[in-house]
Amino acid sequence: MFTKNIKCTKCDRYYDIHESVCPNCLAENEVSPITTKHKNLLMFDSMRQMGLFILGWLGLSLISTFVILIWANIACKKMGITSNDFIANLNSYPEAVLWINVLTYLITFFIMVVILIPKRKVFLNLLKNKNSYIAGFVFGIALIATNILIGYITSMLSKGNVNDNQSALEIMIGYNPVICLIIFGLIGPIVEEITYRIGLFGFLNRSGKLWLAYVLTGLVFGLIHFNFSSDNIVNELINLPSYIAAGLLLCFTYQKGGFISSTIAHVMNNVLSISMVIATLN
Ligand SMILES: [Zn+2]
Repeated sequence: MFTKNIKCTKCDRYYDIHESVCPNCLAENEVSPITTKHKNLLMFDSMRQMGLFILGWLGLSLISTFVILIWANIACKKMGITSNDFIANLNSYPEAVLWINVLTYLITFFIMVVILIPKRKVFLNLLKNKNSYIAGFVFGIALIATNILIGYITSMLSKGNVNDNQSALEIMIGYNPVICLIIFGLIGPIVEEITYRIGLFGFLNRSGKLWLAYVLTGLVFGLIHFNFSSDNIVNELINLPSYIAAGLLLCFTYQKGGFISSTIAHVMNNVLSISMVIATLN
């Protein structure tokens, strides 16, 4: 399940048996236990898949912590408060929170690009598949429709309260809508697709159990959007199903249309929800 290399019949390079194509010459891998059945899944070696997941999940919060500490030390001297005060009352500085998020996502994205550089030919090849753009658009509409439906049900249950993840975002959008569109509408979804679809979903698929990959990826995707330290846990719980549903639908989009499709669907969904917040501000 973890590592077994095969030799490319065309260029004689060795690569992981689960990979969809030879990363060197792009010859199709005809003996992959996964991608011969699900040809749109983008499989890499286990280290890379696990590494991408750990980076986008735990690494992201670790990078965020570092950025906050550095920001606190630099910015607080100017503002005349101690860095401990700044960190304890971080939510009172939404503009700083926005820039901390920008730096965190850009650093994470940059490290992901470095990890994926050896597979650059595979990614460039993906961009040529026109059907994956159409599939992404169609699934994007389905994702938005699902979110509207679940959102309608949850808004009745929660009496219009948004969860903490959402309200923090709304304050940041108020400060700089354009930066929010780029970071939370574009970079964020790309980072999450690399983390949860290429990383986690891909890694779990090595077990050969597609259902297991769905269940665990859906759950983890739901739980990362859940604030365990929220003052309103009931409200967080009410919002949980919509994130799990989105996670499952994105896995399905990825399985059917590939990485380009799930990324387009995810970007469409986020850009729409940020645009709706921007519209209510003006
Ligand atoms: Zn080859």
